[in-house]
Amino acid sequence: MNTKTTLRTLALSSLFLAPVPALARSVDGEFAPGTEGIESLEVVTTLPVLADIAKDVGGEFIHVAALSTPNQDPHYVQPTPVLMQKARGADVFIECGLQLELWGEKVAAGSGNPKIQVGQPGRVIASTGVETLELPTILIREWGDVHPYGNPHVWLDPLNAKILAKNIAEAFSKLDAPHADAYRANLAEFEHRIDVALFGADLVDEIGGRKLARLSKGGRLEEYLEHRGLSEMLGGWLAKAAPLRGRPIVTYHKTFIYLATRFGFEIPIEIEEKPGIPPSAKQRDRVLKLIRDQGVHTILQAVYHDRTAGTYLAKETGAHLLSEPIDVGEDVGIPDYFALMDNLVSKLVESESTHN
Ligand SMILES: [Zn+2]
Repeated sequence: MNTKTTLRTLALSSLFLAPVPALARSVDGEFAPGTEGIESLEVVTTLPVLADIAKDVGGEFIHVAALSTPNQDPHYVQPTPVLMQKARGADVFIECGLQLELWGEKVAAGSGNPKIQVGQPGRVIASTGVETLELPTILIREWGDVHPYGNPHVWLDPLNAKILAKNIAEAFSKLDAPHADAYRANLAEFEHRIDVALFGADLVDEIGGRKLARLSKGGRLEEYLEHRGLSEMLGGWLAKAAPLRGRPIVTYHKTFIYLATRFGFEIPIEIEEKPGIPPSAKQRDRVLKLIRDQGVHTILQAVYHDRTAGTYLAKETGAHLLSEPIDVGEDVGIPDYFALMDNLVSKLVESESTHN
């Protein structure tokens, strides 16, 4: 190859071919720009819900696979050689972070894949920028063994899902710059779909998703709508979840704090005494008393948690035990993020409205 050709190749490379995964090879092995035959970003995520959001943001330009299933407790997945093998060829590794998936780091390290190690652009902590709840006030593991940096179950607030999507879109844009506009457009569409699903289309048209999100996060949405005579315009999950506001709902693990915060229900106690630690008989009795004293109608837990205590408490008190998916997948009959939230809101509202 003479100097001129080399320079031309370099120029072409910088113009079209910066991200290795987006390269297209013609039959004779020369790199060629263009969309036809273009390769995808290979993406692995710790959780299926992150794969689902990545799919919405990445569209046709990525292949994505999740390393866990919705039937697994995201705190406790085995970092097996099979998972390491799956991560070996990845361009991007997306995790929720906040030490939810300690096994994720073991998978990434064991994969021997330099692109997905901590600090690389191919390693994405999707929860970056999320306002973390239940931050420990002192540096002991006061919330138990599994939430040392605050509550990591952030995706059950739809407004946090937009932050996860934004972090993912930014990572894809950096790694695959030629498609950055597409990633940005997909992100905008995802954000709009979330806003419409959460607030209703009419209100989003009237006020805009950004302002609505700000008002909701500041706890001022209801007051604002009332003041402007727009309360009737509220639609979506928030309107549907109105019967949940102020209700006490008992949960097994501290899984649902973000859901509770957005939809305005209270979690007066968990069946687990501390996250990751099964309840003692004493704790179970404490919960039983609270359910009776506060007139709790609903006990909510993730599908993968043991139902023994919940079943007992429901039987003793007449409360409903809801054992619901908190992640997406065919195994649990939840096709995507929107179905996940639809299901949680519907089941809770149904439970709260059918109590005798
Ligand atoms: Zn947890």
